[in-house]
Amino acid sequence: MTQTREVIIIGSGPAGLTAAIYSARANLEPLVIEGEPSSTSDQPGGQLMLTTDVENYPGFPDGIMGPELMMNFRAQASRFGAEITTAKVTKVDFSSAPFGVWVGDEEYRARTVIVSTGAQSLMLGLPNEDRLIGHGLSTCATCDGFFFRDLEIAVVGGGDSALEEAMFLTRFASKVHLIHRRDELRGSKIMQDRALANPKIAPMWNSQVSEILGDQKLTGVVVTDTVTGETREVPLSGLFIAIGHRPNTDLFVGHLELKDNGYLVTLPDSSRTAIEGVFACGDVQDDYYRQAITAAGSGCMAAIDAERWLEAQDH
Ligand code: NAP
Repeated sequence: MTQTREVIIIGSGPAGLTAAIYSARANLEPLVIEGEPSSTSDQPGGQLMLTTDVENYPGFPDGIMGPELMMNFRAQASRFGAEITTAKVTKVDFSSAPFGVWVGDEEYRARTVIVSTGAQSLMLGLPNEDRLIGHGLSTCATCDGFFFRDLEIAVVGGGDSALEEAMFLTRFASKVHLIHRRDELRGSKIMQDRALANPKIAPMWNSQVSEILGDQKLTGVVVTDTVTGETREVPLSGLFIAIGHRPNTDLFVGHLELKDNGYLVTLPDSSRTAIEGVFACGDVQDDYYRQAITAAGSGCMAAIDAERWLEAQDH
């Protein structure tokens, strides 16, 4: 017989591991299925494993490296007895409790499940991306803008995210190129007007980044004109990719309610999904803030929601 646990947590970024810390300290002996290192969408530790300096996580006045911060989260969860297994969940069944979670043929059962599988930034798919992320290449202006004071940088994309990031980055950078593959932006009219009126933002129309340059650190890009096919090199100190995000929700299609953009639906002001006993936290249900600290906060909410739900069942 498969043992029924109180809590299974799927995903091990700031949300999942905070849920693990809280539920372990509530004696719920959570099992965290953390993902597999080989895959971007199931990266144990989440997106912070792909960053370098984190300067906006409270409690670290001198900053901390993303992977080190996540190792601390993990150690803290283990210290209180959370069991962490390195594996990729392949199937779930939330149709009746105890809920089923599978890793291949291995079946786990739990009275509550906390989903914290995160999201990933869409990337251009160019060879140097993995190597230069955190070394001049970024997917988060809020996190990394500060490092580019008085420098010339670029944002890729033409949607609201790219426009918002470009405008935010003008607070720091001397010039922000907006590299867009068409001659018309996708973002909302008001954001377009604001961005295009900003003297620090220089749009580069019909332009696709075809190469990212740099060895230890990003030094520039090669841009291809999408109309003429001509290429040119643009020296840059930083490049922000803002072409959208993808929540890691493939596993939950048909099991949980998803918004049109693929993010999980949670009930207002809580981590509850429409299925009693199944909770969601972190970037998998947050298409707005997308910060490590907000993910951690929502992980805490999910653990408290799960604990109170279990308590209510037992009474
Ligand atoms: P988005 O609207 O899907 O825009 C993605 C942009 O990236 C598009 O301009 C697209 O070009 C470009 N792109 C996609 N793949 C590319 C590639 N491989 N190479 C080069 N360019 C590529 O995504 P988003 O900007 O992240 O916005 C997502 C949603 O959130 C939208 O509904 C948006 O309105 C909303 N949002 C709102 C706010 C706000 O209101 N403050 C802020 C951020 C986001 P094409 O245009 O050619 O397709």
